Amino acid sequence: MDNCIFCKIIAGEIPNYTLYEDDFTLAFLDITPRAKGHTLVIPKVHAENLLELDESHVKNLLLAVKKAQEKLDKVLKPDGYNIGWNHGEAGGQVVPHLHIHIMPRYVGDGGTNMHAIVNNPGSESVEENFKLF
Ligand code: AMP
Ligand code: ZN
Repeated sequence: MDNCIFCKIIAGEIPNYTLYEDDFTLAFLDITPRAKGHTLVIPKVHAENLLELDESHVKNLLLAVKKAQEKLDKVLKPDGYNIGWNHGEAGGQVVPHLHIHIMPRYVGDGGTNMHAIVNNPGSESVEENFKLF
């Protein structure tokens, strides 16, 4: 996609620090890291989010997360990870090309966990919500 910064990285028009690459995916260091080794893993096809990514690419994307994580694990030896992605404006997504954040975690780094992202469960019970499905 013409104006997409991550498509430009894939096209080699913007430099990056590649950790892992194959025919379908690219994993590179985040330019504004929130943790030592903060990495982004992206599909080479443009898709704004997972719902828009063709199913045929999903397996490759998760495989690339594993490959990049293996490399991070070997080199930086973190104590843990948070891995995930922001989807849509409400989810805090800034770059509209699906990217999976790999955040290495280190004991005592002062960070928190996924549960701290939001605490807005609504007033209905889980049972009531389940009925909606
Ligand atoms: P998000 O809020 O999930 O859309 O995060 C976008 C991420 O992309 C941020 O963590 C940025 O630091 C990162 N980012 C933006 N431009 C670049 C770039 N040229 N190279 C590496 N990371 C980038
Ligand atoms: Zn793109």
